[in-house]
Amino acid sequence: MAYANAQALLEAIQPATGGTEIYDPATGELVGRVAQKTGEDLDAAVASAKAAQPGWDKLGHEERKRLLNAAADNIEANAEALAELLSREQGKPLNGPNARFEVGGAASWLRAATAYEVEPEVVVDDGETYAAKHYRALGVVGAIGPWNWPMMISIWQLAPSLRMGNTVVMKPSEYTPLSVLALVHVLNEVLPADVLQVAAGGRDVGEKLSGHPDIAKIMFTGSTRTGKAIIRSSADTVKRLTMELGGNDAGIVLEDADPKAIAQDLFWGAFINTGQTCAALKRLYVPESIYDEVCTELTAVAKAMPMGVGLDENNVLGPLQNKAQYDIVADLVADAVNSGATVLLGANPDDQAPGYFYPTTLISDIAPDNPLVTEEQFGPALPIIKVKNSEEAVELANSLDVGLGASVWSSDRAKALEVAAQIESGTVWINSHGTIDPRVPFGGAKQSGYGLEFGLDGLKALAQPQIIKG
Ligand code: NAD
Repeated sequence: MAYANAQALLEAIQPATGGTEIYDPATGELVGRVAQKTGEDLDAAVASAKAAQPGWDKLGHEERKRLLNAAADNIEANAEALAELLSREQGKPLNGPNARFEVGGAASWLRAATAYEVEPEVVVDDGETYAAKHYRALGVVGAIGPWNWPMMISIWQLAPSLRMGNTVVMKPSEYTPLSVLALVHVLNEVLPADVLQVAAGGRDVGEKLSGHPDIAKIMFTGSTRTGKAIIRSSADTVKRLTMELGGNDAGIVLEDADPKAIAQDLFWGAFINTGQTCAALKRLYVPESIYDEVCTELTAVAKAMPMGVGLDENNVLGPLQNKAQYDIVADLVADAVNSGATVLLGANPDDQAPGYFYPTTLISDIAPDNPLVTEEQFGPALPIIKVKNSEEAVELANSLDVGLGASVWSSDRAKALEVAAQIESGTVWINSHGTIDPRVPFGGAKQSGYGLEFGLDGLKALAQPQIIKG
């Protein structure tokens, strides 16, 4: 069915009474209430997902594809209500590459999980030996997600899992459970009972899911620190893991880049979702020869981007989602300013105003080892580091222990490709940053994680390869 607005959707997912209150990070107003699940509730969810799995698997790929596309239709029928709820709970504006964009992306990525055939692959057939690789369902998949893109990332985890014949138990972030509960509610109006479940709760529920004997695989997106805890708690049951962890993506501008032409794309590469994006550009290396020009052009673009309450259609930037993240950004910027770095824009939060708004901030003349550069700020504050040349930029880019994405900005494609090959990251974009695509595999290098999502690789990652020989 189509819900008229976020309130109607909320009424369908909230407990009749009680529950934990969730507040709008832009206004401090109550958004809704969520029923917290216990370890026992989680056991019950896993048990019913396990019972439902063989039947779901037996439906076969064609029927699962049909149901997943019908579920995507239902997201689209409820797009505005979902976007409004997401905006109120997460803080991101409706407009710009934000809440409506995220709901649209959720529907597209769900459909993309139906766009490939996963056929058995013949690996040897020489007249004497025959061997083929088949992709079987794993069982029940546990999905643990973050608060920055709660609907889109939930789809990234659940869509390939369901497509490959697995059932799913989700554990949303405690900061954005309503967005995930609403999305799953809309999907479950179409899907058979029990194949997709949510257990909203705290870390304890996530921990129990990662050690649960009836969970075959964990799809995790979140911080590197939590990822390591999940790797440890999943060890005893030798779970399959996809780890999409933190990043600190470098952008490397080459001397031949046109500062004016790249400024807008540089801005959105860094500030999409107000900087709260795993693969956002988090440190920008610019050569001396065009440093001032890049700073000027980027500042002009950044100044023109309105920040404010998400439901106001004028805004394209919003608040930090929570106080803890606000404090991280505010502290890193304050330390950078105290170290003598130059403020090109922002760095002047209004502590009296409601909401966790931190102004769009650009910092130049900053030391390459300043914590605003070397730590993941995950907010609207970009350090711009001056370098002598691309060799120095690559060395600095590779100096950290994370490597999710990176970008090279140049008018010379051959030169950009040459630099890209030297960067230690899961993706390198050329003349854009963070432009993900459901057909193109995505995953981290180094401590940004392992495993691939999206495309055919993403589907195979949710299957148990089985070799049949003979
Ligand atoms: P987080 O690690 O704090 O929390 C993520 C989830 O893990 C939450 O649901 C939380 O309840 C759960 N959790 C916490 N402790 C747990 C434990 N011990 N066992 C099991 N589950 C546990 O991350 P966050 O602050 O919500 O998200 C921000 C981080 O996520 C950033 O570092 C960002 O770069 C990263 N991220 C990565 C990607 C990617 O694709 N690589 C995408 C989005 C976000």
